[in-house]
Amino acid sequence: MSDYEAIDVHCHFFPIRIFKKLSKKYNKFNLDIKSEGDLANIRISIGNVRYSGTVKGGFLDFDKLVKDSLTKHKIIRIISIAPISFFYELDIEIADELYREFNNLASELSEKYKDIVSFMAGIPLQDPSKAIEELKRAIIDLGLKGVAIGTNVVGKNLDHPTLRKFFIEANRLNVPIFLHPAYVAAKSRLKRYYLTNIIGNPLDTTIAVGSLIFSGLLDQLSNLKFVLAHGGGFFPYQLGRFEHGYHVREETKFKAKQSPKYYLRHFYFDTILHDKEALNFLIRQVGPEKIIMGSDYPFDMGYDNPVDVIESLELAGNIKNMILIENAIKLFKLE
Ligand SMILES: [Zn+2]
Repeated sequence: MSDYEAIDVHCHFFPIRIFKKLSKKYNKFNLDIKSEGDLANIRISIGNVRYSGTVKGGFLDFDKLVKDSLTKHKIIRIISIAPISFFYELDIEIADELYREFNNLASELSEKYKDIVSFMAGIPLQDPSKAIEELKRAIIDLGLKGVAIGTNVVGKNLDHPTLRKFFIEANRLNVPIFLHPAYVAAKSRLKRYYLTNIIGNPLDTTIAVGSLIFSGLLDQLSNLKFVLAHGGGFFPYQLGRFEHGYHVREETKFKAKQSPKYYLRHFYFDTILHDKEALNFLIRQVGPEKIIMGSDYPFDMGYDNPVDVIESLELAGNIKNMILIENAIKLFKLE
């Protein structure tokens, strides 16, 4: 990789070409997209998942994504599929086709823009056997750098017994897993004021972490490494509560061998918190070696200038460099 200033591990692309192709075959999508200059107004429904808003043009147009990655700072992006297109509630045939096509495209784009982008694979987790097959193809054959999955699979928490074989394979391949909120909990009570995102997203990440820690999964699968979106949701702030619960409640000790703090070694946290003091707290709470830069590009809930967020912190230069570059290189084995 040539000279660059940062690595962004939380950013998304929507493979419109693949969706247009799938929409001719399957009657599950409604895409209303209007490009206006560098932005796009989108109204998308995929099965039961809906999203509308204004996003940066790079959501749909890969050349724009590349241009935006070089505008102010040279940022290498490790891209994952937009979570509105996880497809977990759709028929496995459709999801399988989507992910195969997405991973093939990811491999092509990684080759074409070698110095600027890498990709995380997507997998149809509603069918763990198919998901494992696609994971192996994407990591071993296509050379993708990680895998992005939801914080649950349409309501199934990540400790669900059917998902265990997927985690066993991810552990064997030693591939980092990006956990992105989707199908968030308490949706019926979060309908208004965009609370599904503002509260639902960090809530669901917190549920995912609790399910992974207390299930004992991490005692058996010691290679597993997770990147948590949006600064780890509510988990870092409530770590003391996790810890206290472990000491006083039998339910939490049933499977996990250690108390929650021990399992921090399995988790990395992005920087998308929109609050300097919260980010300083996160760094102190989990350690700077566990923080990696994210932007949530191209969504309006992300950072326009994720590098400036780190640069504005009062941290020693080597710590900034860890967060901007080094931690991501180590985790995703980029060199
Ligand atoms: Zn995101």
